[in-house]
Formats: sequence, C-alpha cells, structure tokens
Amino acid sequence: MVTLPTLIDVYQAAERIQHVIRKTPIFAAPELLKLSGADSIHYKMECLQQTGAFKVRGAANKILSLTEKEKQRGVITFSTGNHGKAVAYVAGQLGIRAVVCLSENVPSYRADLIRNLGAEVAIKGQSQDEAEENYYHILNDEGLTPVVPFDDPMVIAGQGTITLEILEKLPETDMLLIPLSGGGLLSGMALAAKQINPAIKIVAISLERSPAMYESLKAGKPVQVEEKGSLADSLLGGIGVENHYNLPLLKRYIDEHILVSEDDIKTGMYSAYSSQQMIVEGAAAVGIGAIINKKIDVRGKNVVSILSGRSIDTSKYLQVIAEQQRAGEKR
Ligand SMILES: *Cc1c(COP(=O)(O)O)cnc(C)c1O
Repeated sequence: MVTLPTLIDVYQAAERIQHVIRKTPIFAAPELLKLSGADSIHYKMECLQQTGAFKVRGAANKILSLTEKEKQRGVITFSTGNHGKAVAYVAGQLGIRAVVCLSENVPSYRADLIRNLGAEVAIKGQSQDEAEENYYHILNDEGLTPVVPFDDPMVIAGQGTITLEILEKLPETDMLLIPLSGGGLLSGMALAAKQINPAIKIVAISLERSPAMYESLKAGKPVQVEEKGSLADSLLGGIGVENHYNLPLLKRYIDEHILVSEDDIKTGMYSAYSSQQMIVEGAAAVGIGAIINKKIDVRGKNVVSILSGRSIDTSKYLQVIAEQQRAGEKR
C-alpha cells in the first residue's frame, strides 16, 4: 500500500522550501480574453523560478526532508534537463553533495552548467541508458539518496506549492492548465487544488508526439510509447516501468486531458513573446497554444496557465519566433 500525499504535505512543503525557492509572480493575459471568451486568464510565471523551471520546488522539498545522515552522504540523479539543474542548485545552496549522472553525448556546456550550480558530474556511456547504469552503480557503491523527477511524494508535495501561491492571489480561479509529462507537477498542483476547492477544473496537456502518460492512464498501468522529438523537450520521456504515486493521483484528479501539436506549441511560444515579451520553452507554452488554437473551451472561466520553464536552446528559439512572425505577416 502506498500512502498518497495530501494537502497537509503541500503546506509543510511550502514552509520547508521557502528559503530556497522564489515565489513567482502572476501576470494577467488580456490578449487572450476576446478570442477565448474566458472571464480571466493569468500566467503563473514558473519560468522565472530559480534555475528556470518549477522543479526546484520538488527537489528542495525532497532534499530538505532527508535525515541528517542522508544529507551527509549526499544525493544522486541522472536527469540532464530541468530536474538535474534543480537538484544541483538545491544541493549547492545547502552545501550537500550531489552527483548528476550524464552520458558522453550530453553537450559539455550542460555539464558545466550543472557543475557551476554546485553538483559533481559523473560522465559515462554513450546513451542515457548507460548513464543510468552508472547511476545505479554509484548509488549502491556510495550509499547516496536518489532524487527522482516525479514519482515521489515529497517531490509531488513540493510542486503542489504552486497552487497555494495561485489561490492566495486569485482565489476565484476555477480552471488550471497544467503541462504533463511524468506528472509530478500535475499530481501536486491538482491534489492541492481539489482539496482546497473541488470546483477547480484540472486540464492536463500532453504532447501528441509522445503521450506516454496519456496512454498509461488509458491502460491503467505504465505504457512505453515511441519517442519522437518535440519542441517541448521537457515533456518527452517515459514514465518508468513502475509508477506508484502519479498514476493514482492523475486518475483521480484530471477532469480533461488534451493533446497538443508542434504547431500549438509554436503558437504559444510566439504569443508569450509578442504579447508579453516573455521567453518560454516549448513545454511552458502548451496552455497558451491550446487556448489560441481552440483545443480547450475556457468560456466563462477564471483560468490560470502554468508557464513551467524557460530552458531552451537559443537558435531553436529564434527560429520559432522568426518563422511564426513570417507566418503572421502573411495572414
Ligand atoms: C518537468 C517539466 C514539465 C513536466 O513536469 P512533470 O512533473 O514531469 O509532469 C513541464 N514543464 C517543464 C518546463 C518541465 O521542466
């Protein structure tokens, strides 16, 4: 039997992590009102969070709740993306040893970035799978504590603190648009929202190109899907062969689950830039794209869309903006 995290855990997380994270601002999005018919639309700006994504919340809650002995030994993870950066940052801030396992294929600037945040980098193997093997090897040899990206009650409770910040500022919120990959973000945010106000509608947004969690929810167990590339690379990746916490929470709390295309993502990224002058990564733009391209009905709702991060390759970003601008001029 697993014990699922609850609202109490989210409140405790908020208290525990307050010195490590930023309380991010909320921006109004008047540009989307007319076209969507919503009563109000706001953005929760987790793209302005430390290290450029919300993942520090979960990592901080996990690492701060370890025993003194576990803290002395240190922590380990193998993510190259926002989770790896978050673990490195939190450990660096707290003076705790952190090892991030990477493959030799990861560009050296990424390894440097993680090192500069305060973690050790263990580079081995030609693929993510080999890096993962090395991870288990070091984990067992050195007795480090794993910090996983989504299937952990402490990580889930940490991500849930975003909902507390939203409802403190906008108690009338009745719809949350939440990007979904492994589901740490949505599990935490949704459990907090529903336990405070069951009338809040939870909309999950996954990728058409890699809907691992969407298919897993349909099947009722983890399903592997073929991995295709996406502009929203933070939403790629499987959910693992076992999943204890996210599947039951997502099953209970998702009201509507939509899939977005690469075009929707581009539309969202361009709108964030042209209307708000905000740089966001693909994963953060899915809610905006879904509203503009009418994939969700938000009429009469008070909507908050989570802009989850800003980690994106510069040339890829500039290409999207230029392409969208040219397309707009032709229209
Ligand atoms: C990790 C991540 C997500 C998805 O979060 P999950 O907890 O895996 O569902 C969304 N956006 C960004 C920017 C991320 O880094």
